[in-house]
Amino acid sequence: MHDEPIDPFNGDPADPTAGLDDPGDDATPDPLTDVERQDVLEDLADLEIYQALLAPIGVRGLVIECEDCREPHYFDWDLLRGNLRHLLNSGRPRVHEPAYDPDPDHYVTWDYARGYADGVHDTLTEGTEDDPGTATSAD
Ligand SMILES: [Zn+2]
Repeated sequence: MHDEPIDPFNGDPADPTAGLDDPGDDATPDPLTDVERQDVLEDLADLEIYQALLAPIGVRGLVIECEDCREPHYFDWDLLRGNLRHLLNSGRPRVHEPAYDPDPDHYVTWDYARGYADGVHDTLTEGTEDDPGTATSAD
């Protein structure tokens, strides 16, 4: 048996040796902040709604203007969902994997999908909401 000396700083956040063996910022992805995680979860929830509403009328996914490539990327619903889940799990976005040979006519933007869903929502709830002050503006 070998008695290890007890580290007096073990578990102490003020441990003066903490961070000395920091592998570096690039070694591990930064986990998502709570706010970012919440955003992704909301996107996933929105995606479910958009797919349910738009897929039946022939929309196959969303088109996203890529800031890196400066060109639109077309994502099928499943691909979008996979990307968001990947982001949620790994903290890293997985972009630049657009659908193969997409037909632009079958893809809409987030804004279009959001507006469409809002329109459907308004239609469904027409007459049931009598407080105009609850409207929220996006951006
Ligand atoms: Zn891109």
